[in-house]
Amino acid sequence: MKPLIPTLLAFAVLAGCKPPATPTVAPAPDTQISAAPTPTPVVAVPPAIDPTVSVLELAPAPSERAGYQRPKIIDFHAHLSLDGQERIQRVMRDNGIEIMVNLSGGSMRRGPEQWVESKILADTLGGHVLNFMNPDWSGFGGPEWGKREAERLAEAVTRYEFRGLKIAKILGLGAVDEGTGQLVKVDDPRLNPLWQKCAELGVPVTIHVADPRAFWWPLNPDNERWDELKVHPGWAYGPIPPELAAELPPRPKPPSWGELLQAAERMYRANPQTIFIAVHFGNAAEDIDYVDGLLARNDNVHIDLAARVGEFGRHPADKLQAFFTKWQDRIVFGTDIGIGSDFLMLGSNGAVEPRLADVRPFYEAHFRFLETAKKQIDHPSPIQGNWKVDAIDLPAPVLQKLYHDNGKLLLDRAHLKELAARPHKDLSKVPLGVPNEAQPKVKK
Ligand SMILES: [Zn+2]
Repeated sequence: MKPLIPTLLAFAVLAGCKPPATPTVAPAPDTQISAAPTPTPVVAVPPAIDPTVSVLELAPAPSERAGYQRPKIIDFHAHLSLDGQERIQRVMRDNGIEIMVNLSGGSMRRGPEQWVESKILADTLGGHVLNFMNPDWSGFGGPEWGKREAERLAEAVTRYEFRGLKIAKILGLGAVDEGTGQLVKVDDPRLNPLWQKCAELGVPVTIHVADPRAFWWPLNPDNERWDELKVHPGWAYGPIPPELAAELPPRPKPPSWGELLQAAERMYRANPQTIFIAVHFGNAAEDIDYVDGLLARNDNVHIDLAARVGEFGRHPADKLQAFFTKWQDRIVFGTDIGIGSDFLMLGSNGAVEPRLADVRPFYEAHFRFLETAKKQIDHPSPIQGNWKVDAIDLPAPVLQKLYHDNGKLLLDRAHLKELAARPHKDLSKVPLGVPNEAQPKVKK
């Protein structure tokens, strides 16, 4: 355990040995929020990283496509903690990452400490890490929940420089209305003040709904996600063997995969001014036709690639290439990497945690899939499926948007405010999409 440096000293070190004249966390403009700003807590800051090493000194592997120069990357889907700052910096330098979007910026559940830590991480890395807030589900069902979280978001954005809101799959699968004991539905209108505040502030909502389709199928060795689910039986929502079920805490009956995705689409439509980034390939990497329709119907929906190359990589490469070309303005690159001082996740983890040396091959597997036409290659997270994929050889202009430009636009608050103000289509007569939930016959 390293000794903790007092906060002010650490700030001084990070700021090049000059004590900051003003507090790092600026006072909130009082026009932005009605609640009194929370006092800034003192948090333990780990030792400073080497300030002579910039994350912009990039040393990624060259592309495996001859002559192709990859742009700087925005990884729009990461889970980062302050104590991992040295490892984060190293990962960014090793893989050509200009910006990491930290979707675990924290909620107000345990006070503002985590927001302060996230802001220090962003400041320490010179703005190359940007944070998204997580809501605090406690108290849901009370009349003021939406207003409370909307005000907190305004504070996180205006005072702590957060750049968006992240909703985890707990919405729809775990968060409970304290009044009724029922699961909160993804399209519950009491969430609308939060979505609307995002549009007003010009920040996006990154949202995870449901999980891989096979997590709803019977949990047994025939399930295509058995390797992962046997390590994480709590992720399974279908029939579970009694011996595994006995280990799990009791929980409300989950909705079906399709019900969750349809509720999400109703919610996207009810909030057309708000920009949503549906993670994990629109939360439906298994059904590319459904995701195509989702994007066609709802122009406020974007998708990321995180932790689903293996899944969507099972579709024919030419079909995928056409999909990426068609939706080249609505897809962002993201990996679902998690980095702390003693924690590393690469998309998903099995029983054995990866090592730092595994990170570069993880990014290279993404690059190989997107940039080459190689057949039957490993996908980045083999724990998520014991199969190979064909790479999709995207054109350079599409890659430029995917790796960098689309992410940059979604982090531009003025741009999002413009999108909020554009006219919206009348979708009242357009039916919701119906994702294919059927379990294919198991080959023996
Ligand atoms: Zn994630």
